[in-house]
Amino acid sequence: MYIYADNAGTTKMSPVAIDAMTKCMNEVFGNPSSLHSTGQRAAEVLQKAREDVAEALGADFNEIYFTSGGSEADNQAIRSAALFGAKKGKKHLISTKIEHHAVLHTLKKLEREGFEVTLLDVGADGIVDPADVEKAIREDTALVTIMYANNEIGTLQPIDEIAKICKEKKVTFHTDAVQAVGHVPVNVHAQNIDMLSLSGHKFHGPKGIGVLYVRKGVPLFNLIEGGAQERGRRAGTENIPAIVGMAAALKEAVANLDENMAKISAMRDRLIEGLSQVEHSRLNGDAKKRLPGNVNFCFEGIEGESLLLLLDEKGIEASSGSACTSGSLDPSHVLLAIGLPHEVAHGSLRLTLCEENTPEQIEYIIKEVPEIVSYLRNISPVWEELEKGEKKHVI
Ligand SMILES: *Cc1c(COP(=O)(O)O)cnc(C)c1O
Repeated sequence: MYIYADNAGTTKMSPVAIDAMTKCMNEVFGNPSSLHSTGQRAAEVLQKAREDVAEALGADFNEIYFTSGGSEADNQAIRSAALFGAKKGKKHLISTKIEHHAVLHTLKKLEREGFEVTLLDVGADGIVDPADVEKAIREDTALVTIMYANNEIGTLQPIDEIAKICKEKKVTFHTDAVQAVGHVPVNVHAQNIDMLSLSGHKFHGPKGIGVLYVRKGVPLFNLIEGGAQERGRRAGTENIPAIVGMAAALKEAVANLDENMAKISAMRDRLIEGLSQVEHSRLNGDAKKRLPGNVNFCFEGIEGESLLLLLDEKGIEASSGSACTSGSLDPSHVLLAIGLPHEVAHGSLRLTLCEENTPEQIEYIIKEVPEIVSYLRNISPVWEELEKGEKKHVI
């Protein structure tokens, strides 16, 4: 059996998105900045995609800026808010310990450039407390940036409450919604979101394309200098085929949202139930306030990487932590933030589902994972110590 269960890492493009892109590449090669008919045809296609993306987010089309992906959108949003804050003497930024590295590393860099950063803790459930956000806001706070949904443990943050607090306190609120858009309902105006990042390849669109939504009236600084594309805020000839493919994928995801959420979360809950049967295992992140497709477990006494390789041999493709950290030996900063000790955080498994997965696949995973975990524990010196009582079980 072949099972792709790493949809938080990236998704397979949908046929609708591929068709839209192929058609675009065949028929629309113009530069939207050109005044001739071929250029204007491209400009029309670009405008239509912008309107479709705006509609899917509950935004206006002139609040949509196309970027090269989620990372660029995060960088631009944070740097921009920091820069405009600094002009008014506000050099304090607030975020959480469980953000994606596109956010954390940008903040780290700004810290070296003289900004002060407060990284909020999350609870053992992987959720930030809005009261902590309120307490952290100061007179000189320029930005609160908190992700909509976590890419490792799938927890959904209380975005509505946080955004409301920021609105009352007149602090700009940005959310990295790369894992949320196309998977759970998002409406930027209704939810009082000032800036939001998304990425095409996380909802069956193409890679290398994303969006930064910026509410009208919120100033935006450009990261890339050059031509006047994106209303002067993001230079460079637009990647029209990718933009069109992303818009098509997003439209499709939003149209099927309720149906997919019900189907995927039923598979998620069955998978959680099945894997919970493994002794000395634990589900990471709140069981309900999580993305429909996210399952993240720790198994004591084993290494996540070994588990992944053996699962791959059985046709199951999963992840341990995020794609960006696998390959490094450091345990996930997210698992450490929810209070797991290093040795347990090393034995994590992330399975992220989409509507193409089937209940049969879920049963296969439920059968294979415990067998591989037992095999690895049998050859693990750490497990032996635990079993002999030389070391205490943590989970
Ligand atoms: C994937 C991801 C990103 C990065 O998006 P790219 O388009 O790959 O640059 C940022 N934030 C989160 C939460 C993600 O899951």
